[in-house]
Amino acid sequence: MRPLIATVRLDNLRHNYLMARQAGTGLTLAVVKANAYGHGAVRCAQALADLADGFAVACLEEALQLRAAGVALPILLLEGVFEAEELSAVEHHDLWFVVQSPEQLTMLEAAKPAKPYTVFLKMDSGMHRAGFAPQDFAAAHCKLAASDKVARIVKMSHFARADEPQLSATHAQLEVFDSVCRYLPGEESIANSAGILCHDKARRNINRAGIMLYGASPLPAGFDQGAALKPVMRLTSKVFGVRELPAGQPVGYGGSFVTERPTRVGLIACGYADGYPRLASTGSPVAVDGKRSRIIGRVSMDMITIDLTDLPEAGIGSEVELWGDTVHINEVAAQAGTISYEVLCNVKRAHFVYE
Ligand SMILES: *Cc1c(COP(=O)(O)O)cnc(C)c1O
Repeated sequence: MRPLIATVRLDNLRHNYLMARQAGTGLTLAVVKANAYGHGAVRCAQALADLADGFAVACLEEALQLRAAGVALPILLLEGVFEAEELSAVEHHDLWFVVQSPEQLTMLEAAKPAKPYTVFLKMDSGMHRAGFAPQDFAAAHCKLAASDKVARIVKMSHFARADEPQLSATHAQLEVFDSVCRYLPGEESIANSAGILCHDKARRNINRAGIMLYGASPLPAGFDQGAALKPVMRLTSKVFGVRELPAGQPVGYGGSFVTERPTRVGLIACGYADGYPRLASTGSPVAVDGKRSRIIGRVSMDMITIDLTDLPEAGIGSEVELWGDTVHINEVAAQAGTISYEVLCNVKRAHFVYE
């Protein structure tokens, strides 16, 4: 068996969920979209089933996968429905859904549910991606409130820059939201992970925790609000080849790295086809039997070369952590010029082990 293993620690997931919930006073939906940020949506949802207030996914297909696996808690569709036909499945599976556009509102008004829906009505409070403009929000809310198709309306918005706590942008979004919503009845849902961690005023009736559940803080280095989160995934492989090179030798595609000293190169089974970001090449951290070293040369499709020169005890069979407890996922993401979310979502081909 190829030794690339993604170990998903479900106890850490539960720990992180409880941290998210303790931060706020209301309900906390566990966001398990995109296959639980690459961790396995069904397994993660089942592991949280006795703790969580509910789940959030991107779309109907993701919700149906959870229902088929026996997940009975509330599930919110964060993008809402794409076609009117989806509303019968929404009703049948008792799903909650976002209404973020006039088109989605029209679909809802045309539906004939036997049992009225729970709807999250989304305002564009400044992100300018999805949602009703503030000046249109009250009218949309009144339409829903007057409709016998809707039993519960949650006022909702989403932050563009909650992961930059030093900025005033999040505060400005909250002011826009509240200036309209304070005159409208019902529950509210605003905070994502960064909102939960850093913005007291963002925590309302229903919070939506995503990345923090998986043990990665969305905040930049230097903000320690997420320090107690526990990494859920550990991606490990093994050294399966070792070679000694003199100084001055290129390593890997493009010869982008040239040995500066006599170098012991370890070969490990993991590559960009497994989701390890190719942009995180020379210099990216790895941990060999718990000791930090680095990638040398380019990440290729199935293999990575690492520097074992200062780790003489390491050799064939040594365990290499790509990320997890010694190497933080945020370090790898930074090396690749991206965020933990993208790196985690991309993991594939590895053997998944749940513990
Ligand atoms: C993905 C998503 C979240 C969760 O965001 P995190 O930053 O991962 O906590 C919350 N709300 C909406 C609307 C989302 O799409």
